[in-house]
Amino acid sequence: MENPVGLEAFVENAPISPAERVSRGLQFEEPLIFERSEPGRRGFVFSESDWDVERVDVASELGELLRENDAELPEVTEPDVVRHYTRLSQWNYAIDTGFYPLGSCTMKYNPKINEATARLPGFARLHPYMPERWTQGALELLWNLEGLLSEIAGLPHCSLQPAAGAQGELTGLMCIRAFHESRGDTKRTRIIVPDSAHGTNPASAAFCGFSVVEVPSSPDGTLSAAAVAAVMDETVAGLMITNPNTMGIFEGEIAEICKVVHEGGGKVYMDGANMNAILGQARPGDFGIDVMHYNVHKTFSTPHGGGGPGGGPICVSDDLAPFLPVPRIERHEVEGKATFKLVREGYEQSVGKVKAFWGNFLVYVRAYTYLREYGSNLPRISERAVLNANYVRTQLSDTYSVAYPGTCMHEVVFDDRSYKASGATTLDIAKRMIDFGIHPPTTYFPLNVSGALMVEPTETESLRTLDEFILVMRTIHREALEAPEKLKGAPHNAFRTRLDETSAARKPVLTYRQARAQREG
Ligand SMILES: *Cc1c(COP(=O)(O)O)cnc(C)c1O
Repeated sequence: MENPVGLEAFVENAPISPAERVSRGLQFEEPLIFERSEPGRRGFVFSESDWDVERVDVASELGELLRENDAELPEVTEPDVVRHYTRLSQWNYAIDTGFYPLGSCTMKYNPKINEATARLPGFARLHPYMPERWTQGALELLWNLEGLLSEIAGLPHCSLQPAAGAQGELTGLMCIRAFHESRGDTKRTRIIVPDSAHGTNPASAAFCGFSVVEVPSSPDGTLSAAAVAAVMDETVAGLMITNPNTMGIFEGEIAEICKVVHEGGGKVYMDGANMNAILGQARPGDFGIDVMHYNVHKTFSTPHGGGGPGGGPICVSDDLAPFLPVPRIERHEVEGKATFKLVREGYEQSVGKVKAFWGNFLVYVRAYTYLREYGSNLPRISERAVLNANYVRTQLSDTYSVAYPGTCMHEVVFDDRSYKASGATTLDIAKRMIDFGIHPPTTYFPLNVSGALMVEPTETESLRTLDEFILVMRTIHREALEAPEKLKGAPHNAFRTRLDETSAARKPVLTYRQARAQREG
């Protein structure tokens, strides 16, 4: 592709990322930046009467609780604190500052209207112990959201309790186990998981007490019904499958696979993390799925960088409905008026409670807002997400090697075959992207692709952003072949250059005190 949008300057003088902007302005060594404390600095002033300790005998009031030594806290003014946290936020990369093509995790733009509704006092200031007659609006929102999620899934029952995808997986598997046990079928102790699965799938199965049978994907990156049939027997409780899968490919044999599992007496769990690709296009319940989770924070746009909070609601078929967590939300007509209730009675087969109160309520306010905003335009989301991924795939496929050729869904996976010989690695390519102001995509996942680079642009990115990204990717590829050493220490102009990721994970320094202790040796 010849530079279609006049981006020479963009490539030559890498755009100024927030991190770079800050790092160029830095005048202090790092310890000084964090060490803002000076004895006697304060963010508050007590009034005269507050100082008058004579009036209250603090020592006898507090007894043993009275501190013997001053708390070891930084001594700072209010502006010191504000600037510290604002600076930290600028060193961070965020979806609100740039392109974030993180495959599988769907980092889409989070519309600000979601934040406005989640901050409405009637939602934000609710207390979970308030009586139901005061929380009818909140319960109605949850009831409506359950209905929308069920409709999109093609599965008639829903529980909003699980707090994230992984907890949805565990809850769904608990329902499957309870279903088999309720029929006295206790020999089903195994769950089938394809080798392309997200790590949480086998982990959830193991956590739920199942053993995991791994089945290999076919050379085209999908799972075949024959591979499932080969391991299906009366000890298998079910199969977990992601569709579209983590390779960004729709599982073409899904209906056949579900049939094989059902005929063998098992249930099929769908990991719905990739629902962004099929929203309003295909319904999992229609292609044979018995239970699925949504990652509400991914598909329905809740900010989730840094780990939460999230929502992992599950939708289930009639067979599995009796086992859903309690309380369930019920809608009744009382004196001609819709009334919503949280109910436990009548759900004796339930797996119980999996999360305090009603799940992460404000995450659901955001999801509901998002869904209502799109309304009947929901299929536009998946159409554009898939179009954007395929644009990236076709524009880059003469440079990078696509792991599985052919049309992809919402994400495209490249492997390292096109640059491996030069000595550059996928990690080098990913880190170099930071110098151009782009968040690296997911790397080295799925595990069954050598040096995987998994790109998910999402529907919210414009053609211009995608063209800039493509140009950056081509530039980095040229560097990888011609000057791989340029990539080795990258990123070069971020606040932090290449980290030792092993010690960052194994020996993290997360607190002020730890950092100070480390410096003082
Ligand atoms: C994100 C993800 C999960 C886990 O979901 P969490 O909400 O992070 O717990 C599971 N499977 C796939 C494919 C995912 O992308």
